[in-house]
Amino acid sequence: MGAKVKTMERRGATWTERVYLIEICKGMATTFRHFLRNLLDNSKLYVRHYPEVQPEIPVRWRGRHRLTTHEDGTVKCVACFMCQTNCPANCISIEAGERLDGKTEKMPVKFTIDLLECIYCGYCVEACPLDAIRMDTGIFSVTGYNRDSFVLSLEELLQTPGAFSEEEYKKGGA
Ligand code: SF4
Ligand code: SF4
Repeated sequence: MGAKVKTMERRGATWTERVYLIEICKGMATTFRHFLRNLLDNSKLYVRHYPEVQPEIPVRWRGRHRLTTHEDGTVKCVACFMCQTNCPANCISIEAGERLDGKTEKMPVKFTIDLLECIYCGYCVEACPLDAIRMDTGIFSVTGYNRDSFVLSLEELLQTPGAFSEEEYKKGGA
């Protein structure tokens, strides 16, 4: 059985629309009008001049992780594995070791987060009983040359500072 072919009538209101050239010129004129207007005055542009203008990050926004420390700079995390257990992406890996400074019994000797698998859900932050892991770094752009550079180490997590003051963070309800 042959396919039924329905021939549609070509619709074009006027002959100038049917030859396209005039319509193309009209379109280009509109493009150049906008181009010149924005070139002379870009204050009305609805775009952000990133990276010169960085976005304002709200306190509750979930960025790249960090591990918090006590006032003396020692790690707060007690390697309880709550974050690792609750992580739906299974991208946290912790190795616990004995803690010798008398603060607690355990501490992480290895703590990694694979950012390529992380879905930024924040469950790890919610699950932590000690506020030892946070996502308040304000870091939204994560780049690297290979897969390994996306795996955060314990040192990287401890060295990343928070983007907000303690008061702002608490006020933000994070
Ligand atoms: S944000 Fe979610 S997916 Fe990422 S490490 Fe935390 S719990 Fe896992
Ligand atoms: S970050 Fe918090 S939840 Fe995760 S192991 Fe450390 S203390 Fe436990």
